[in-house]
Amino acid sequence: LNGPQILRRASEKTAAQGGPDAILSQIDRLVAEVAAGTAPGSIAGIAIASAGPLDSDEGVILGIPTLPGWDGFPIRSVLAERTGLPVLLENDAIAAAFGEWRHGAGAGLGHVAYLTVSTGIGGGFVIDGKVVRGRKGMAGHVGHIRIADDGPRCSCGATGCFEAFASGSAFEARAAQHFGQITAKEVFEAARVGDPLGTALVAQEAEYLGQGITSIIHLVSPELVVMGGGLSQAFDLLNTGIHDVIERDAMAPFKDVKVVPAVLGDNSGLIGAAALMHEKRGI
Ligand SMILES: [Zn+2]
Repeated sequence: LNGPQILRRASEKTAAQGGPDAILSQIDRLVAEVAAGTAPGSIAGIAIASAGPLDSDEGVILGIPTLPGWDGFPIRSVLAERTGLPVLLENDAIAAAFGEWRHGAGAGLGHVAYLTVSTGIGGGFVIDGKVVRGRKGMAGHVGHIRIADDGPRCSCGATGCFEAFASGSAFEARAAQHFGQITAKEVFEAARVGDPLGTALVAQEAEYLGQGITSIIHLVSPELVVMGGGLSQAFDLLNTGIHDVIERDAMAPFKDVKVVPAVLGDNSGLIGAAALMHEKRGI
């Protein structure tokens, strides 16, 4: 087996404010686009990798801070009814962790921690060769590890969360205090050409990422930490800073754990969710 192939890909920006009705219409459109021209019966099912918290045992969305109107929505049964196909629901970072372990940067290892750093921070673990799902499949919400007494308000409503300091949104908010409106990508570009402020902002981001990742390493003892999400595209600029913090802060036997960028990129979650579905169905 050479790993899975993405045959077709379709996407739209989530119509978050429209609630379930608007997003289900989007899903209908995207499924039709991807399924167009495929032989009848050739689609084994639908695997959903979604931001959480969600109950992947029951197939129900619980309370996603960025998606109003979905609390308690039984998306698995609703989609199964709409399409006549089997549906799997998994937290996106757990799916991505599984994808990177099965077919990506963590292939062949027994213990892998994954974190995605973009708008927010999510996490997932494969430990002792098994995906860690926890009660209701909600394990791995590492963005809400507390790293400070106070600080910017987190998407979850609390303060001091890892995500509130180290997410791409937090990085952009810090940069905006100096540069005005700016994207993470532009800050990395500034750092890349030697701009001192851009370089300092990237070093600060690596410091926060290193602190959270050091906690993750102490918590689950992975052989490797895989970083995905938008900020992993500039991993080469964050790499040294993150490892400096681990070297400085981790207890001695944990200092040699390495962090690497995801190799499946944007597709970690898609491939992971599909691989989980194949595994569950034994195909
Ligand atoms: Zn939080």
